[in-house]
Amino acid sequence: MKEVFRACKKCKLLTVDKNCPIHGEEKTSTEWFGFTIVTEPSLSVIADKAGITSPGNYAIKVRQ
Ligand SMILES: [Zn+2]
Repeated sequence: MKEVFRACKKCKLLTVDKNCPIHGEEKTSTEWFGFTIVTEPSLSVIADKAGITSPGNYAIKVRQ
């Protein structure tokens, strides 16, 4: 069974939930593109550019 990942419009975190686990009220979207796994936000150039501070799976782009 394939799970559909959703991305938070605010922080781009990928989750299977309809709301972001970090932003509670923020709805997640299925319209996202690209994918990056961040394990060490402080060492990642992508994380730095995207303002990612917590490890996790993130979308590169989320349609607003
Ligand atoms: Zn979020």
